Formats: sequence, structure tokens, C-alpha cells
Amino acid sequence: MNVMITGGAGYIGSHAVKILLERGYNVSVIDNLSTGYMDSVDKRAIFHNIDIRDKDLVVNVLKSDHIGAVIHFAAFSLVGESMQVPLKYYDNNVYGTKVLLDAMNEAGVKHIVFSSSAAVYGDRSTMPITEEVLEVPTSAYGETKLAMEKMMKWADIAHGIKYIALRYFNVAGAYQTGEIGESHNPETHLIPLILQVPLGKREHISIFGNDYDTPDGTCIRDYIHIEDLIEAHILAMHKIIETNKSDIFNLGSGEGYSVLEMIESARKVTKQPIKSIISERRAGDPARLIASSEKAEKELKWVKKYNDVSSIISSAWKFHQLHKDGFKNEN
Ligand code: UDP
Repeated sequence: MNVMITGGAGYIGSHAVKILLERGYNVSVIDNLSTGYMDSVDKRAIFHNIDIRDKDLVVNVLKSDHIGAVIHFAAFSLVGESMQVPLKYYDNNVYGTKVLLDAMNEAGVKHIVFSSSAAVYGDRSTMPITEEVLEVPTSAYGETKLAMEKMMKWADIAHGIKYIALRYFNVAGAYQTGEIGESHNPETHLIPLILQVPLGKREHISIFGNDYDTPDGTCIRDYIHIEDLIEAHILAMHKIIETNKSDIFNLGSGEGYSVLEMIESARKVTKQPIKSIISERRAGDPARLIASSEKAEKELKWVKKYNDVSSIISSAWKFHQLHKDGFKNEN
């Protein structure tokens, strides 16, 4: 089958491209390289340097590459930035998805797997979070992801475009060979930042608050390995094609780890001391986010391969040692 991946040059998208190719799918990538890296895109994919907001070009790819399903990752994803420049997020994420759905409708492509986020839930007290928990986003980013999901619901009703929205918790780790991994500029995510210390690129890791209502006072998150995450996308794609039904699933591990536990685990993996200091809380960080992924396990038959954070951190460590400066674009 021919699959079009939007945002295929980004961290998550580039892993989807590689894993789908390994499984024998034909992959077309569309990416405007605004935050992604050409170096992370597997050379076997057909690459189109275009913007999802350019409808005619998207229709062209859907038709000329004979696309059967779309996996949609292209979006801006920094919570903090979304609070400073929310309209930039509405333009790329919400308007971009509107144009993509229009293009799919015009080209007669009726299946889409969508990269959503735990950010749609906001700061909830019920743990673990199931798909029934009310969505109350607390950031512009989360609000755009929820708006994208809602738009898909109406596009399904009106145009029969079937979607599965996957709400990710904390995606981490790297492809097993270390060829591709998490590279953001600037980097804001915990695991790559911790690993910058043993790489000699940062003096210490800052712990954003140790006065939360958690056992050790630091924030708890649910980390899921990138390869397990992509596996769920493949299962979701087949589920839509088989059942012709839209749906929503959480993707996480069901286990929570505190920032201190993550640093401790990284010390063991890297066999280096990794200096940490306590700093101020980061605005908007909920104390605890843990997913219930029971629905995905039951209905998608999703089985995770990476069940402990040390294997997630080990895979990231392998990537970062091979790519000390991450990826860079020449243009
Ligand atoms: N965090 C931290 N120091 C950092 C970066 C992140 O203590 O330098 C914490 C952050 O407050 C959160 C957790 O690590 O509790 C995961 O943050 P990340 O940005 O990786 O993901 P998020 O949960 O915000 O999506």
C-alpha cells in the first residue's frame, strides 16, 4: 500500500517513514522542513518539499503517488511557544489540517491516522487517563490538537473521511540502530536534555520544581518508546481500513516516572554522574500525567516491546552518541 506521511522529516514522522518502509509499504513524505531535517528522512521514501497548506500540491501528491492512507504528523508542537504565538499554531495545525482534509476529499483518499496529544486533556486529577476523561486543554497547542480532532469528526460525517486520532503521552527514545532519533532545535524535552550532560554539552540538568504533590516532589510522566508508538499507527491504519470506523486511542505505557527517577536511570545507562540542580517550576506543567492504554491494547491488539524506561533511555543514548550535534539542515 502507498502511504503519505505529513511531517515525515520530524522526530516522530521520520521514525514512521523508516518503520513503514521496513514493513514493505511505499512511503511518500510531505514536509516543508520548517522544523524537520532532511537527514532524518529515509532515502527510500519519495520526498516532497511542500507545505500541507498548499492544497493543489497536496492533491497532486495524493493522486500521482496513488495514496491509500495518510498519517498526519505535520504540526507545531511546543506548548510554551503556542502560548506566545497561538495564531501561528492555529495557522499550521488547524488551518493546515483543514487544507489536508480538503485535499484528501478532492483526491478521494478516505483514511487518516492522526497524531494527537495528551495535551487535549489538560490538567486532570483522574489517573490513569482514559479516553472518556473530559478534554479541557490548558495550552493553545492542546486546543489546536483538539480542534483538529473535532474537524476530522465533521469531515467524517460529511465526507466519509475515516480517522483514528492517537493521543500520545511522552514519546521518547530512538530507532534501534541509532540512525535516527530525537533532535530538536532548541531542545526542550527531558531525555535529550539529560543526555546532553554526559555528552559534555551542558553542565547540569535543571529539575523544574521539586515541590509537586508527588512522592519525590518532581513531576511524573508516562514515557513511551517511539517504535512502540509507530507500531500503534500501523495497527490503527489497518483498523480504519478494515472497519471503516473512526476512533480515538490514548498511547502511553500506563506507568509513571518522576524527573528524579529519569535522571537516576540515565546515570545507570550512561555510567556517568549527571549533575542536577533544582530550579523553578515550568509554567503549565501538570504534576502527573499517566495514560490508560487499555483501549489500544484491547482494540488495536497493541503490544509494547519496550516496557522500562532504561531501555528507552538506552536507545536515545545510542542515537545521541552517534549524532552529538543532532541533525542540521543545509538550507
Ligand atoms: N523537565 C525538567 N527539566 C528539563 C526539561 C523537562 O525537569 O530540563 C520536566 C518537565 O517539567 C516535565 C518532564 O520533565 O515534568 C517532561 O518534560 P518534557 O518537556 O520532556 O515533556 P512534557 O511532559 O512537557 O510534554
